[in-house]
Amino acid sequence: MTDFQQKLENYAELGIKIGSNLQKGQYLFLNISVENTPLAHALTKKAYEVGARQVFVQYYDDQVTRMRYDHAPEDSFDFFPEWEALEKTKLAEYGAAFITVKSQSPDLLKGVNPDYVARANKAAGQALSKYREYSQANKISWTVMAAPTAAWAAKVFPELPEAEQVDALWDAMFKATRADLDNPVEAWHKHDATLSEKVEFLNKKHYKALHYTAPGTDLTIELPATHIWSGGGSKNEKGIDFMANIPTEEVFTAPQWDGVNGYVTAKKPLNYSGNLIDQFTVTFEKGRIVDVKAEEGEDIMKNLIATDEGSHYLGEVALVPHNSPISNSGILFYNTLFDENASNHIAIGSAYAFCIEGGTTMTQEQLKKHGLNRSIVHVDFMIGCADMDIDGILEDGSTEPVFRNGNWAF
Ligand code: ZN
Ligand code: ZN
Repeated sequence: MTDFQQKLENYAELGIKIGSNLQKGQYLFLNISVENTPLAHALTKKAYEVGARQVFVQYYDDQVTRMRYDHAPEDSFDFFPEWEALEKTKLAEYGAAFITVKSQSPDLLKGVNPDYVARANKAAGQALSKYREYSQANKISWTVMAAPTAAWAAKVFPELPEAEQVDALWDAMFKATRADLDNPVEAWHKHDATLSEKVEFLNKKHYKALHYTAPGTDLTIELPATHIWSGGGSKNEKGIDFMANIPTEEVFTAPQWDGVNGYVTAKKPLNYSGNLIDQFTVTFEKGRIVDVKAEEGEDIMKNLIATDEGSHYLGEVALVPHNSPISNSGILFYNTLFDENASNHIAIGSAYAFCIEGGTTMTQEQLKKHGLNRSIVHVDFMIGCADMDIDGILEDGSTEPVFRNGNWAF
């Protein structure tokens, strides 16, 4: 076996044993690019090794997606196949695990009419609402991973000869996900324990709010009265551990939906459905986004915010030290899964139900009442940097340092 094959197998093993933590007799639904069939095969093989009942692979093809946006009739973008939504919803109800392998080139939809992108995303968001409820309440085990495509690798490593770009991106991913280690599964158990310590600390502190300051940022985020911090592993409704993202370096909770005030400047470009949004600042009043300015992709950003009422508010607040493995690699991945794990981030849109006490059994209305924003979108963007300070505001109004110069203060 070559070194690459070994790492690819390790990576697939992480997807099955750590990410989805697939159990004997369980269905697996895998969404992956046609450019990544070797990984699809490795994941499927590992899935059957641990006793999968059946593996359903849904392949997507970036070039076919692009052709749709270039040539399909204008009135076709409000349609999302109901059978596709039904497949995922039903499989979730049958207790399936879900693996999504992201590989979209950041420029896939560059130059496409942003209205088409917004409408197609909205149609998908609406059609998949039941499935999203299941995943956001951790009813099911689900995980998001990534794999390189030629177009994406070219964007990350433009200075390398074309023949070396994909391998370079694989290498960076194997490092960032610990798939390059001898025993990656064991390494992930250790990593999970480290994240759990931070989670416990923050849950004990139970800050009323966080105050962020950095160049271009002065932002206060209130937290719901019954908020819960999470990080690393999650549990599905059957109590089975899974890891929603590979890699993950964050601990996170939900903001009080109407308790965000001030302004924040993004520190990395955001790849949102095949378009880059860069150098942007967002201003909040009582939770609502009242202004946004972007050097690049401002119309895409504005369309994202206009998706529904909830997309005017935040649904996640996540802490990642500047001194983290992905951040230290110095590589800008142009992919949120990696870039968000190199940086403090927040998300526009829906909050995770498990971020408040009793949230996973609440109705959508109850979640909102307890402070959690609801929306059909959830889009993270990166705000952390080496100059960022964060203060925790306690119940009595006193403050203490949580982050100093981009890193944990304790
Ligand atoms: Zn996050
Ligand atoms: Zn998120």
